[in-house]
Amino acid sequence: MSEKVILCDMDLSQLTEYMTENFAVKPFVAGQLYGWLIKGADFADMTNLSKTLRAALSERCVAQPVKIVRTLTAADGTQKFLFELWDGNVVEGVLMKYKYGNTLCISCQVGCRMGCRFCASTLGGLVRNLSAGEMLGEVIAVNALGKDRYVTNVVMMGSGEPLDNYDNTVKFINLLCSEQGLNFSQRNISLSTCGIAPQMRRLAEEGLSVNLTVSLHNPDNEQRREIMPVANAYSVEEVISAARYYFEKTGRRIIVEYTLIDGQNDSYSHAMRLAALLKGMSAHVNVIALNPVKETGLKGTSGVKLQKFLQYLEKFGVSATRRRTMGQDVEGACGQLRRSYLRGEHE
Ligand code: SAH
Repeated sequence: MSEKVILCDMDLSQLTEYMTENFAVKPFVAGQLYGWLIKGADFADMTNLSKTLRAALSERCVAQPVKIVRTLTAADGTQKFLFELWDGNVVEGVLMKYKYGNTLCISCQVGCRMGCRFCASTLGGLVRNLSAGEMLGEVIAVNALGKDRYVTNVVMMGSGEPLDNYDNTVKFINLLCSEQGLNFSQRNISLSTCGIAPQMRRLAEEGLSVNLTVSLHNPDNEQRREIMPVANAYSVEEVISAARYYFEKTGRRIIVEYTLIDGQNDSYSHAMRLAALLKGMSAHVNVIALNPVKETGLKGTSGVKLQKFLQYLEKFGVSATRRRTMGQDVEGACGQLRRSYLRGEHE
């Protein structure tokens, strides 16, 4: 089973080469196939391709590496999807509906090895990376639920660390933005990282213009290490310096993600130090109260204290807003996505 070729891993020119070489078809047939693939069709639906070709394809290839096997809809309309990958692994995604469009939050790894103390995605460690075509498959599967361009924005903020799956992540961005494919604008894509500084710098060199979000959560190195093991490898200063470099290279304003944990990172002095760190930088801080993950025992900062923290930031001249928590009642909010099972292990 592991020998199958995932067709969504290829762009149109690669698919054309693959199809002409391996199935002796004319290039336009590869074009037809590609059109079906990005619409979310399976071989059985591809009625303008010959039956023999479809049979041969299904022996050797996977058309859709991702299937939606369960959908939960929250009171605010946010939908959480359980995606089954072609090999039986599962990841989750979340669709948030806004006035300007629909944002899909996708996963890039089954599990995660970053070990952030407050996050559900990392609880069982890393199982495997997703391929570029599998990440694209998440978008294709959800897009197929609506009319053309149903998904307008993609955020890489589901399970996994995109910069720990670097090559596939960059390839995915290129596939998603391919003109013959879903033709996404890079400006409608956000990549979130826990702060793997050298990879942030490498990303800055790629010539992409996706938005970069940095999960900081604490301006103090020692305290940050207590909640984020990656901080042992890269200091806050290194992370921010890499973020500044990303801005210099791409002109994209950096988003700093700051999750407030009660009594741990929500004081006046935290706000002051955060402001000092971001001084002179084109950055915006997204403040969010920690969403509950029962295994962690950590508590989010209450509304009143959260407002105060925002006021402190404002006072220090930092552009900051509170990010709405969406989909909490289906555990679809930030940090609540986890490796669940079809059997419903965590219900
Ligand atoms: N690995 C990447 C992508 C995950 S994005 C990263 O760390 O950025 C998920 C975002 O939600 C990150 O900013 C993460 O720090 C934050 N998060 C994790 N657990 C959370 C929780 N319980 N409540 C609120 N935010 C959380």
